[in-house]
Amino acid sequence: MTAAVNLLDFDAARLAAYFAGLGEKPFRAKQALRWIHRFGQRDFDAMTDIARSLREKLKSGAGIVPPPIVADRLSDDDTRKFLFDVGGGNAVESVFIPEDDRGTLCVSTQAGCALDCAFCATGKQGFNRNLTAAEIIGQLWQVNKVLGDERGVHPVAAAGERVIGNVVLMGMGEPLANFENLVTALRLMLDDNAYGLSRRRVTVSTAGLTPMLDRLRDECPVALAVSLHAPDDALRDQLVPINRKYPLRELMAACLRYLEKAPRDFVTFEYAMLDGVNDSENHARRLLGLTRDVPCKFNLIPFNPFPGSSFRRSSPPRLRRFAEILMNAGIVTTIRKTRGEDIDAACGQLAGRVRDKTRRSGRPVIGIHEVRSP
Ligand code: SAH
Repeated sequence: MTAAVNLLDFDAARLAAYFAGLGEKPFRAKQALRWIHRFGQRDFDAMTDIARSLREKLKSGAGIVPPPIVADRLSDDDTRKFLFDVGGGNAVESVFIPEDDRGTLCVSTQAGCALDCAFCATGKQGFNRNLTAAEIIGQLWQVNKVLGDERGVHPVAAAGERVIGNVVLMGMGEPLANFENLVTALRLMLDDNAYGLSRRRVTVSTAGLTPMLDRLRDECPVALAVSLHAPDDALRDQLVPINRKYPLRELMAACLRYLEKAPRDFVTFEYAMLDGVNDSENHARRLLGLTRDVPCKFNLIPFNPFPGSSFRRSSPPRLRRFAEILMNAGIVTTIRKTRGEDIDAACGQLAGRVRDKTRRSGRPVIGIHEVRSP
């Protein structure tokens, strides 16, 4: 069912404006926001503190419509991947990564991606479209509800009981290329009447669209991760083609400007470790020079191979040596655990099995989502 108005598309201000249009007081919007996001309620009749007359108005003109879950797979390491049907033969994914007391949800912002980074499976699918705000926040809405129901807790219960404690915009797509919808979804993540996450617990990951970084800083600063992957423009131009438009000097300057208003006092640089390409000691030393003025941490991601990819993962000793050089220079460096590989939930693999460029036109998602590589 597609409602005329999908209330998941609205942050608090937009919901208040919508309610004002119905002749309702702004506090009604707050009540509705809580029902929708805190309690995962879709049924207007269950919103018992909302007047019957308003419920009737909502029932006739609006709905709460998240993208449907079409697959839900659990990995051997407890990583759990949810596949959402966003229509037109497109699917996007969220990955839930459980940690000790709570978990992190990795959310998608686009169906496909236009940036075409050399080592990324999503890029190989090409770009299909931006997700709506409802489709972005709808991933969180759905997973919150599934996990909350399973564990018998309200999805957004007391902070200690919260099922999803962190959200990272690191799924399919380039978040900053879908700016308006991203920010609407971020505002809901941060809103105390919705998910109530602190700005430090929501991380946007970008390949480095510098003008949009400035806008994010001004409009909705959250924690920042930047996909670096190379210490110089010549190599980064090859690996992350958007670098030709926004080269490293500009990117580093934008990171510094971002930090003026960021909720954390460092940027996380993500660095996919590609054997023999960007993983030598010399590359590591040059990274120290590049990032000298930017307070940062490094997150080294062992390359996740996918069918048709020509790169190889750096060997563990090479990875360790690379990390050592950064750490000896005083930079906090983590090596990302490769999780969810058995369910294709690792970085850059998302939805890679569902569709590729060659079968862009309209094959249904359901029925092919279980196709696995041998
Ligand atoms: N467009 C955003 C989000 C991308 S996914 C961005 O560029 O930051 C999150 C991270 O995974 C990025 O750093 C991305 O470069 C990295 N990544 C993509 N494919 C990968 C792969 N096959 N192996 C390892 N890391 C990968």
